Amino acid sequence: PVVTRFAPSPTGFLHIGNARTGLFSWLYARHNGGKALLRIEDTDKQRSTQEAIDVIFEGLDWLGLKFDDEPVFQSERAARHAEVALKLLEAGKAYKCFATSEELAQMRDEQRAAKKPLRYDGRWRDRDPSEAPQDAPYTVRIKTPERGETVVDDAVQGRVTVKNSEIDDFILLRADGSPTYMLAVVVDDMDMGCTHIIRGDDHLNNAFRQLQVIHAMQGIEDGWEEPTYAHVPLIHGNDGAKLSKRHGALGVRDYRAMGILPEALFNYLLRLGWGHGDKEEINRDEAIDLFDLSGVGKSPSRFDMKKLLNLNGHYIRQADDARLAQIAAAQIGDTANVALLTEAMPVLKTRARDMNELADGAAFLFKQRPLEMTEKAAALLDDEARGRLAKISDALSVETDWTTDALEANLKAMAEKLEMGLGKLAQPLRAALTGQTTSPGIFDVLALLGKDESLARINAQAL
Ligand code: GLU
Repeated sequence: PVVTRFAPSPTGFLHIGNARTGLFSWLYARHNGGKALLRIEDTDKQRSTQEAIDVIFEGLDWLGLKFDDEPVFQSERAARHAEVALKLLEAGKAYKCFATSEELAQMRDEQRAAKKPLRYDGRWRDRDPSEAPQDAPYTVRIKTPERGETVVDDAVQGRVTVKNSEIDDFILLRADGSPTYMLAVVVDDMDMGCTHIIRGDDHLNNAFRQLQVIHAMQGIEDGWEEPTYAHVPLIHGNDGAKLSKRHGALGVRDYRAMGILPEALFNYLLRLGWGHGDKEEINRDEAIDLFDLSGVGKSPSRFDMKKLLNLNGHYIRQADDARLAQIAAAQIGDTANVALLTEAMPVLKTRARDMNELADGAAFLFKQRPLEMTEKAAALLDDEARGRLAKISDALSVETDWTTDALEANLKAMAEKLEMGLGKLAQPLRAALTGQTTSPGIFDVLALLGKDESLARINAQAL
């Protein structure tokens, strides 16, 4: 059975690039009827605050990615990590290195001067620990093979090979007995029974090292099977550079605040780097049905806000009106009325590309008289326009059928009688009814406000 894991580090926010590999891991497990596990890599004590961890949970929850079992906290597993290192030491697959940091710095200086790659030269690999000064501190290093090569048959990158001579004897346990990141990740992956490691391709080089630990443990404990790796290209910005702060928002929470719906971000992140023909709109169930690693592209994809907004508009139009009303009400604040918003939603949602835009478009419903006017709206209401409003008021006060269609017929007839374009009536009317120069369709605005409120707002501006 397939077991995947998503292993974010608490950095203070859930990066959308990380969220995407989390989504891929989750989808791959769901598609195969397997398990999607979550591991919080919280070994950096300073950054791993409860708040930073909660941001990850919140973002995953919002995206609808429910992981299986309880999350694993890497920091709680240090004793097990050390146990693996000590087993390797005992089996002769790892060794104690007594080199001091000054000594290693000098080694690197020399390598730099000789234009050689910087890597540990194995100086304690074949030495006897008794040669070290008594009670000298030591690190535990893995003994990697000197000849041959290590191969990763990556499900995304294809077959990637590295010469073992290029992999140095890296540290497993620091002098204080704490495990290194390289050790912790692979021990956790194996103990969690992961069959597939789906993560950013910035970790591809780590795979070659992590495989050394797996190979070394194979004769020592059961269950150290090589997983399938899938290293997913990172997201780039519009300019082709790796996505960073200067490209705009990076955190899942930021997109929520921008009025993006979770199903839209889900769909967008999925399509970013994974394709199924030309199909743009893929909902959760379809995604579970269709997702595979062979559809993940090898080259980085570019983040495109316009595409995300288009998808968001699509999902807004599909979403349940009462749900959208709840979201919009939270944005508008205390004055909002969810029932009225729900009623207005079919009109409000036809154009909005994000929930903030939608809430702005709905704000007129809850304004108090006298209406606050935008500068543009106020400028529209000159004496001539106010005169027209008086005529509109007369015509509408006798209207008995207060529906969008009847109101449209009424005002069109009036425009014809006055021999003016409908816009000459609609513009001041919009300003008077909403205090703005943009709004949903003017007949819808009238219908939603109702007769009494509409006439009160019109009369407040009419000459
Ligand atoms: N914690 C690592 C990160 O957030 C991921 C490690 C892994 O997936 O192996 O980049």
